[in-house]
Amino acid sequence: MDCIFCKIIAGEIPSKKIYEDEHVYAFHDINPIAPSHALVIPKKHIRNVLEIAPEDSESLLKLHQAIGHVARELGIAEDGFRVITNTNEHGQQTVFHLHYHVIGGRQLQWNM
Ligand code: IMP
Repeated sequence: MDCIFCKIIAGEIPSKKIYEDEHVYAFHDINPIAPSHALVIPKKHIRNVLEIAPEDSESLLKLHQAIGHVARELGIAEDGFRVITNTNEHGQQTVFHLHYHVIGGRQLQWNM
């Protein structure tokens, strides 16, 4: 499968890792839109939130816990941050491997 995020998880494409466990990988976005911009992804290839299956529950619990870990690691937990998962065309999803943007480090507006 030709998936850039699967290649990042496999170490075939370099990334700036923030966190990793059995189910989850988190790294800095290559094109940040704020002082802190991380991506948190499941190691299992899931296209987007429309394709989450019941057996993914443990993985996605770990992913949500990892979001908190990443926010604390980046020093943005207390001031606050935003979590976004873009989905399909209108959501402007460009990488079709489920990922959560963790964005912070400045005051965000609703239109970012
Ligand atoms: P989407 O547009 O919501 O699908 O988000 C994809 C994100 O992946 C974008 O914010 C890109 O900047 C980011 N991205 C694409 N390729 C890489 C990479 O190789 N390393 C880190 N981030 C990447």
